[in-house]
Amino acid sequence: MITLLNDNFSQLNNFLHEGSFSKIFILADENTHEYCLPTLLGNMETDLGFEILEIEAGEEMKNIQTANQLWEILTEMQADRKALIINLGGGVITDMGGFVASTYKRGLSFINIPTTLLSMCDASIGGKTGIDLMHYKNMVGTFALPEQIFIYPKFLETLPFKELRSGFAEMLKHGLIADKTHWDHLIQIHKLDVEAVISHIRTSMNIKQDVVEKDFHEKNIRKTLNFGHTIGHAIESLCLEQGNPILHGEAVAAGMICETHLSYLEELLSKEDSEHIIENIRRYYPYLDVSDFSNDDIFALLLNDKKNADSRINFSLLSEIGTCIFDHHCSQDNIITALDFYRKLI
Ligand code: NAD
Ligand code: ZN
Repeated sequence: MITLLNDNFSQLNNFLHEGSFSKIFILADENTHEYCLPTLLGNMETDLGFEILEIEAGEEMKNIQTANQLWEILTEMQADRKALIINLGGGVITDMGGFVASTYKRGLSFINIPTTLLSMCDASIGGKTGIDLMHYKNMVGTFALPEQIFIYPKFLETLPFKELRSGFAEMLKHGLIADKTHWDHLIQIHKLDVEAVISHIRTSMNIKQDVVEKDFHEKNIRKTLNFGHTIGHAIESLCLEQGNPILHGEAVAAGMICETHLSYLEELLSKEDSEHIIENIRRYYPYLDVSDFSNDDIFALLLNDKKNADSRINFSLLSEIGTCIFDHHCSQDNIITALDFYRKLI
């Protein structure tokens, strides 16, 4: 269930009041601790005791060491099975907090209060939790639903522009895979800022929620959410491995350009639609220099992708704006041509 919070957080307070929790643990990173926690604590009304768990900010923290530290702290603080974890942050916090909660003592309750555009529209919804392993993204994780998701769009006011733009990539993706009208509305945005995106958050969240409700365990239609992510994740992983991490949405934007062109090469999408999509994605995102990455580097990662079965590289690709097909096996030549197409866009 997704709830848009009032300014006094009354829905959250009702939820805390009605639940029979023993104690609350609020997980934040250093930025959400500074920018979002004061608003949460200023509005939260509960008789329950609470503890703040803070981690450093960044994707590099989404690993087993951090998870282990959090499990240890929960143990030291005697968290029992009725404890509630509140994940206050972006996708790193909701992925990490959901993972820690769903594994500790075989599962504690947790709620998500996403604070980035990306986590509001995407990461906090759908019950995928997880951590990275070596340089592979989200290699270890669980499917575990939060009890509730509470959205407070005003948290976006302190979000840096690059982070806002990163989340916008997932919104564009939602339009491309499921709702042409949403895409049409989004590309009318000329100046990307909080005011421009705020009225589109609900639609984007609903698209994700609808898809996930139809196919929680990603057996079929949920795979469409991976559009742009097969090549996008490979680029994101290679940048991370090189010590130059890029934002998830930046990688997804590059991945969507490659996979849109691939959709055209595979004769699924018209040339006209493909060019229109690529031209518009490029309006918002600077070119990512992928010249250091060889096709072999990229294929090694594509072959390790969690979405593959039978050693085939499976893609989710567009057949028109608003329609996505999944489990599409592409020719290696076309994948290389799509990567070369991106390299030449510089
Ligand atoms: P993030 O959590 O790292 O947040 C981005 C940055 O913004 C961080 O530095 C954070 O401290 C800061 N921040 C957060 N809220 C803020 C605020 N209100 N004001 C100022 N600063 C703020 O990253 P993200 O982009 O939200 O999420 C990316 C992660 O989400 C990736 O690990 C990705 O794999 C994951 N993800 C998961 C799913 C899923 O379904 N589980 C879907 C998409 C992405
Ligand atoms: Zn994503």
